[in-house]
Amino acid sequence: MTPTASIFPWQHSLWARLWSRVQADHLPHALLFSGAEGVGKRCFADALMLSLCCEQVGQKGEACRLCHGCRLFLAGVHPDCLRVEPEASGQAIRVDVIRALAEFATQTTLVGRWRLILIDPASAMNTHAANALLKILEEPPAHTVFILINSSDGILPATVISRCQRMLFPLPDEAQARAWLAEQCPHVDGTAALVAGGGAPLKARDWLNNGLLALQQDFYSDWVRVMRRQATVSDVAGKWSAKPLQEKLTLRMLLDWLFLWVRDLARVQAVEAGTESWMNFYLKLQQTYSHVLAVPQLNRQLVLEDLMLCWLH
Ligand SMILES: [Zn+2]
Repeated sequence: MTPTASIFPWQHSLWARLWSRVQADHLPHALLFSGAEGVGKRCFADALMLSLCCEQVGQKGEACRLCHGCRLFLAGVHPDCLRVEPEASGQAIRVDVIRALAEFATQTTLVGRWRLILIDPASAMNTHAANALLKILEEPPAHTVFILINSSDGILPATVISRCQRMLFPLPDEAQARAWLAEQCPHVDGTAALVAGGGAPLKARDWLNNGLLALQQDFYSDWVRVMRRQATVSDVAGKWSAKPLQEKLTLRMLLDWLFLWVRDLARVQAVEAGTESWMNFYLKLQQTYSHVLAVPQLNRQLVLEDLMLCWLH
């Protein structure tokens, strides 16, 4: 993936704090960027790596984007930088990848001062991989910086977390998020996308650009149709498990959508009637979610059917 180095308006103070540590020569050897998905952690990490590669970086950490180091980084070919990602979305980062990284981390740098290693998402490391990383972090090589990215729902071993300097990435306030989104997608009203993205602006932008918002509305309509017996459980579950939609939407995303929806429905329901049936469904949804996280290759149609049957009762 090509680097998308940028610092968003809601990250300026975070950047200033981090860059002051670079200037004071107190950059931690391992950073953990955590926060909601879609707040711009990856772009920020790229911006940091770019600035550390830059040969004529500004006082506030602005990379020139023109020097040899910047050009190599922006082309994705800087020999002192390494990105560790799962081979495909949802797959694990394996131990052999981290072992290879150990060797890379101890070599002398070829171009700049720093050797930079990005692991995204860090929670994709399986237990063996996380243990192998822990060994490296326990005796950190000089001039090597690890940047681990982790979204709020990603689980990392406490031992790894304790070896990193943790930085929490905030959500922007609503006005800031709206203003940014209006710049990015000037011809649409981003309000619904921001709500659907839980306030995360990059997520909202992607939703608008990829037509996900329309799909989400369609998904909710289908659940209403099931409830009104206008569609069968198997038809709707089959539709959302068909190949083109599977490629576009993970089961986790569908469950995330359900969480948002059920939460909103529960708010309305709480005013009108008893909440027990909502609570039952909510608990069922939570159980299913944990199950899906633990066993990624579950039969999607069966999971959806099971949820819809619970929803109907
Ligand atoms: Zn530069």
